[in-house]
Amino acid sequence: MEYRELGSTGLTVSRVGVGGFAFAITPRREVARAIHRAIDLGLNYFDSARLYGSEGKIGAALRGRRERVVLAGKCHFRTPHEIEESLHTSLSQLQTDYLDIYHVHDLKSEAELEEIGAPGGILGLYEELKRQGKIRFIGVSGHDSQALVGALKTGRFVLVYGRYNPLARESAASVIPASRRLRRGFVAISALAWGIFSVPPEHHAFEVGGESLPGATAAFRYVLSNPDVDVALAGVRSAEELEELVAVSSLPPFGPEQSAQVVAQSESLGKGQGCTQCGVCLPCPAGIDIPLYFRYLTYLRDYRATQYPALTWQAYAKPFSEACTECGLCVQRCPFELPIVETLRTVDRLAREMRHPTYQDEPD
Ligand code: SF4
Ligand code: SF4
Repeated sequence: MEYRELGSTGLTVSRVGVGGFAFAITPRREVARAIHRAIDLGLNYFDSARLYGSEGKIGAALRGRRERVVLAGKCHFRTPHEIEESLHTSLSQLQTDYLDIYHVHDLKSEAELEEIGAPGGILGLYEELKRQGKIRFIGVSGHDSQALVGALKTGRFVLVYGRYNPLARESAASVIPASRRLRRGFVAISALAWGIFSVPPEHHAFEVGGESLPGATAAFRYVLSNPDVDVALAGVRSAEELEELVAVSSLPPFGPEQSAQVVAQSESLGKGQGCTQCGVCLPCPAGIDIPLYFRYLTYLRDYRATQYPALTWQAYAKPFSEACTECGLCVQRCPFELPIVETLRTVDRLAREMRHPTYQDEPD
């Protein structure tokens, strides 16, 4: 396993990290097996978030081995009381006294950055929690590259999580060079584009430099081939899935020609498979975060994870499909011709059902 200095933190971390989201739908015993296997393979970066609903499983699995790993958590709340409560719960669930990194989760815009960083803003609370020793470093995660670059420039975040895969390459031109220039850590998220690259090789194999590769291998290797990616998070549901991605990390990086081949073949893979989170459909005149809706759809329909959307529904209370005027702009822009308006309606319906006490965790 290759290791990196994580920005200016002084932490040495494995280039493959373990993502915490998919553990929400993974049985406790399998989470423990995957985590122990990860540590045995030399991985030491573990991601978690209050929203994912998997902290309890991760904490139990790390019992007795906590000091051997770098543990990152995230908080999506934006009021002091909620943040303190949330961190308290995270620490208790993760069975630890401190988090190595605590992220402002899902920073949405430069305006929000300004708000949280202003005097009296919640970033001051994060800094106080750091002084108290409850967190060691402050990071930021999100999907808006401009906001993430702006966050790095403030000098108040040592680490950034940004989306990066062969279909979503914006970070390579913005967040990644900024993190390098400013000596901050860069952790790649969505390396498999929400499962789009997990398509079985019999349906779609990548031909790269004369080799035939499964999509997950091609995408993960593409991400790790960027030398400025410090850590690529592997979102796995089993020890076996983890082993496959760890094996990819020992392969030589793609050269420019091989990377271009992966990108070219990814475009056709993306068509008809689902939302790649590319953001080309934005901005929506009604202010709707369209890629977020497609993430909700994945959580609800494919992962059957109810906790994440339930919490974000309450946390953000953003305009949902009622705000859509059906102007059609997004549909014209989406390179994959996705049924955006119908998706908004479906997610709205599922989210409403989820708040109902009779919701059965089995959306159609
Ligand atoms: S159709 Fe709806 S979601 Fe799409 S851009 Fe127009 S208002 Fe926004
Ligand atoms: S809906 Fe289409 S354009 Fe919008 S983020 Fe998804 S794939 Fe990209």
